[in-house]
Amino acid sequence: MKVHVNLNVCQGHARCEDICPEVFGTDAVEGKCVIHQPDVPPELEDKARLAVRNCPEGALRISSR
Ligand code: SF4
Repeated sequence: MKVHVNLNVCQGHARCEDICPEVFGTDAVEGKCVIHQPDVPPELEDKARLAVRNCPEGALRISSR
């Protein structure tokens, strides 16, 4: 499972980071989402899915590869 962010849509709430900091972070300059682990390890998939569902801007997307 892979996660992707659309930075044109991300507003930098960092809700994704709050929910799954192993995968998502916040860029110190832009204040927008950075993805630490685009290839999400199996043990983090549930947490990463929750973060994607909770992005208020719909900026995050999941793909299978
Ligand atoms: S929750 Fe969504 S809008 Fe907020 S920082 Fe994460 S990707 Fe960006």
